[in-house]
Amino acid sequence: MIIRHFLTKVILMTNLTRRSVLSAGAAVCAASVIPSKLIAQELPMIEASDPLAIALGYHADATAVDPQKYPKRPANAPQFCSNCTLYIAENDKVGKCTAIPGKLVAAEAWCNAWIKA
Ligand code: SF4
Repeated sequence: MIIRHFLTKVILMTNLTRRSVLSAGAAVCAASVIPSKLIAQELPMIEASDPLAIALGYHADATAVDPQKYPKRPANAPQFCSNCTLYIAENDKVGKCTAIPGKLVAAEAWCNAWIKA
């Protein structure tokens, strides 16, 4: 009832036809049910060969980090991208990292810039 009243007012206040207003409303409703993942451009995963990944000591599998080479992460330390303060989860597997713009990182990854969240 409220929507009908609103549409009637819009039609009276403008030169729009009832059909064009309803078409626009239908388009807005359809767009609102499209998952945001389909609208947003997917970011690529960072590759191990990426110069920034190399510079940060990024490892897609944190458990494979050599503690001799990276003493900041002792063996079995509970340090992962998913609990780093720079991590912004996209889902339970990947997320964005504020230190690595334009790329996704794995939730189970780690790098030498890790900061406890
Ligand atoms: S800064 Fe944090 S979130 Fe980013 S890659 Fe390193 S450990 Fe992962």
